[in-house]
Amino acid sequence: MSKKPENIERIPFNKEEIAVLRQSISISEELISDFYKISTSEWKRYRYDIQSLKDLLEEEIVDIAFAQVHRYAQSPHQRLRGSETGDFFKICLQDHMIRKAVQRDPHIELLPLTTYIVTHELIHVIRFAKFLQRFYSTPNEQEAEEGRVHALTYQLLKNCKIKGLPEVLLAFKDCRTMETFYGTREKASNE
Ligand SMILES: [Zn+2]
Repeated sequence: MSKKPENIERIPFNKEEIAVLRQSISISEELISDFYKISTSEWKRYRYDIQSLKDLLEEEIVDIAFAQVHRYAQSPHQRLRGSETGDFFKICLQDHMIRKAVQRDPHIELLPLTTYIVTHELIHVIRFAKFLQRFYSTPNEQEAEEGRVHALTYQLLKNCKIKGLPEVLLAFKDCRTMETFYGTREKASNE
């Protein structure tokens, strides 16, 4: 369970910030599709949801990272067909932590930062779903994976023409507080 430090108010994104976030999600999903050559029909295999603060449960909120990735045994939204494994990933964006980074540094803007964060988290999810990386791994493995995911995020975004993106790439390429991971150890029943 997360502890709330006194100085961080958990204020959800407003309408304008949500519009920026939506834009960054579509940019990120398109880049990921191209990079991993995922067709529209194949996307259904990747069960994930990207939610911001207003739609998070208490246990999905943290004050130490931009996101928390929750692994659930099955999606709350869909009934699964018998042949499919049920892993479902919820990318829980921490609006208050993202806003804090933008307010702290005048060179950092919301669109490039959320694009960096969403792309980074989607790479994690795709790699878990493709079994390129285990969700439960040792701290050393996690650190190595974090380095790989930052490198992949850079590779995907380096030619992307978003105002302020070079500043974000420079500032966050080694960021150690991108996300935390959370999930129960039980396997999905049909795994
Ligand atoms: Zn990461």
